[in-house]
Amino acid sequence: MPSTERVAKVVLVDIEGTTTSIGFVHDILFPYAKNNVEKFLEDSWDSSVEIKEIVRQLQQVPQFAEYTLRVPPTDVDVQVITGFVRYLIDKDLKVTALKALQGLIWQQGYESGELMGHVFTDVPGAFAAWREAGLRIAVYSSGSVAAQKLIFKHSVVGDLLTHLSAHFDTHVGHKQETQSYANIAKTLGEDPRHILFLTDTPGEAAAARSAGLQTIVLQRPGNAPLTDDQKSRHELIADFSSLHTLQLPE
Ligand SMILES: [Mg+2]
Repeated sequence: MPSTERVAKVVLVDIEGTTTSIGFVHDILFPYAKNNVEKFLEDSWDSSVEIKEIVRQLQQVPQFAEYTLRVPPTDVDVQVITGFVRYLIDKDLKVTALKALQGLIWQQGYESGELMGHVFTDVPGAFAAWREAGLRIAVYSSGSVAAQKLIFKHSVVGDLLTHLSAHFDTHVGHKQETQSYANIAKTLGEDPRHILFLTDTPGEAAAARSAGLQTIVLQRPGNAPLTDDQKSRHELIADFSSLHTLQLPE
């Protein structure tokens, strides 16, 4: 279908590799949390109930016991937790308390202006055009909903959060599972055929298509190259510019 005739009610966007460079997440966000965790814990260790709870949860992570073999529980301090957090980040272990702590560190970074959420230059124009046409925009990312909101609220082109009407993370299911997209359509109250999902990952596009969504795969600078087989199976675009003309169905 030519892009001029494409209709949808909701555009569902992935972040990493779709609205935002993969490098921003891996080269800026994760190192920022790793570099600032010690200072952040020092500042909040005694005063924050939220931090006390996160520290308590971190000590219950199974890897904590092996990491701190020689540290008696009474000696758990900022240095021990800082080391453990950096260890978890390096191992890329998906720990809820770690995600919560990273979210708080990033929030401080965004609010101080040290961090700004990267978006590709065509993103703000596309968001504005879709909203102007009466479409809703929703986000589905493996990053937490809180982290998603920070990227768009404090983006390099200003506050884009106002354009977004729904956020989904892996609480709705994993991104390469068809059921996740059925859950999203149900939550949005839309026919899956009226949802256009934009992602850089062919496996996610395939899962969404199985649930009845329209899908397009992004080939942004810095994304992993696609195989010929993947290219043949998916509609491909380099940016959102061809989608400015999206319209609501009749
Ligand atoms: Mg992605």
